[in-house]
Amino acid sequence: MRKNYSPWIHQLDKSREHRSLRQDLQADTVVVGAGIAGIATSFFILKYTKRSVVVLEKFKLAHGATGHNAGQVASYFEKGFTAMVQEFGADLAVKGQQSIDDAWGLLEEMYTDATLDIFFSRGLGHDGYSTFEQVVRALEEARLKREHGLVPEHMAVAVHAPFIDAIPPQYAGLYRAVPHKQVLEMLETSNPLFMAVSSQKRGCVNSALFCEKMLEYLTATYPKRFALYEHAPVHKIILHTDSALLDADSHTVTAKQVVLCTNGFENLHIINENGLEVDARYHHLLRGRVAYMSAYLEKPDNPPVATSYETPAEPTEDLPYYYLTRRPYEFQRGEEHNLISIGGPEEPFEDELYSRESEYPEYAMDILSKFIHDIYAPEHHTPVTYEFTWHGLMGYTQNGMRMVGPEPQNAILLYNLGCNGVGILPSIMGGRKIARHVAGEQVPKSIFDIPRR
Ligand SMILES: Cc1cc2nc3c(=O)[nH]c(=O)nc-3n(C[C@H](O)[C@H](O)[C@H](O)COP(=O)(O)OP(=O)(O)OC[C@H]3O[C@@H](n4cnc5c(N)ncnc54)[C@H](O)[C@@H]3O)c2cc1C
Repeated sequence: MRKNYSPWIHQLDKSREHRSLRQDLQADTVVVGAGIAGIATSFFILKYTKRSVVVLEKFKLAHGATGHNAGQVASYFEKGFTAMVQEFGADLAVKGQQSIDDAWGLLEEMYTDATLDIFFSRGLGHDGYSTFEQVVRALEEARLKREHGLVPEHMAVAVHAPFIDAIPPQYAGLYRAVPHKQVLEMLETSNPLFMAVSSQKRGCVNSALFCEKMLEYLTATYPKRFALYEHAPVHKIILHTDSALLDADSHTVTAKQVVLCTNGFENLHIINENGLEVDARYHHLLRGRVAYMSAYLEKPDNPPVATSYETPAEPTEDLPYYYLTRRPYEFQRGEEHNLISIGGPEEPFEDELYSRESEYPEYAMDILSKFIHDIYAPEHHTPVTYEFTWHGLMGYTQNGMRMVGPEPQNAILLYNLGCNGVGILPSIMGGRKIARHVAGEQVPKSIFDIPRR
């Protein structure tokens, strides 16, 4: 029986003191949820406005998806650029993609302002493909990006791939034919299944540790304007015309604006005293999925990587693709290792409430061990010993986009939520956008706007 314990939570400071809410409070802006979205939103509001910010977290800082992810910093959308163009039109889709690409700069801004020195790699990430359909789908994404002035991913296709001559001519210039050996080397596998690889900027970070360090920075930099309260679950939010009341456990917090950075809408009741109902179908705006990951330690012999692999059987509902990161990792003080973390298995989670206490299922570990054995490290003849096994909740919105901006029924309430599979850069992009709303700027329409219901 395995517990839900991630390498990112393992690296947090266990002796950090948690401040709990002991009295009623007032603040200009209340941020609900202290994952990377809540921390980034606080950072940008504090930096770019004069507002005070109180963060209310129902459990502990960064113990949600932010502490249970793969930690790949990536600027793609799981929905895919092609589907975004179809749904939102080229102009909005391009601007949406650009805003996520620009979030690299925002992440650097946070890192630099707080003079962080925690591990954050930036380099090229690789996606491996094994079938013609996967290759053509990726090339079509690249073609559309090129057509609309975005930087497309570059693909290398094995010169002897059985389908290379069938690749349609409109994809010329988006791929190059290389020896099969080169594709396999880029993907660090000896498994000949993989016929192509595309590459783009990608990084690795411990987003939970990043939040912990940012918390230190915000607390020291804005002692009068910022506070985080943990173990402070918000059960109810009452929205008025120019203020909101939050029922946070046994205390009341009053704010001029509230930003929900809760990933989803667990146990949260919203009452709009100022007009149409807000609460009604909230829980149905997001579909939950639980994703499972495992990690093991090895010698620190190889550089960091962030790679994904699509085998001929993927993507499926339960196994969209495998994703792997390798990075330097200090398991115990003074010890140097590489941490290999792998994810892939997922399952829908709609009717029950997700519990971070749930056990880690054996079947997920078996799937990941097979991946290690067949693809990443066939030299492991015995099953690897996992130091960590963990799961996390991903919230998928109906249109596959993060929800960022004011509630159409009452702009006192704003959102920066909806993981949609890739959430580190989108959370940071969302934080900057929310700060613009809070500052009263005219924020242009975007694919992240909250759909009217
Ligand atoms: C297995 C897995 C792998 C992933 N891999 C990647 C990856 O490689 N790259 C990437 O970019 N993204 C990845 N993601 C997604 C990414 O981790 C998330 O999108 C991101 O961390 C979301 O941050 P958040 O702050 O919105 O949510 P969270 O980190 O979940 O934070 C929300 C917080 O709100 C709190 N909260 C909820 N309700 C209340 C309430 N009523 N009152 C007070 N507090 C409340 C929660 O306790 C929680 O701390 C992955 C996710 C998972 C699960």
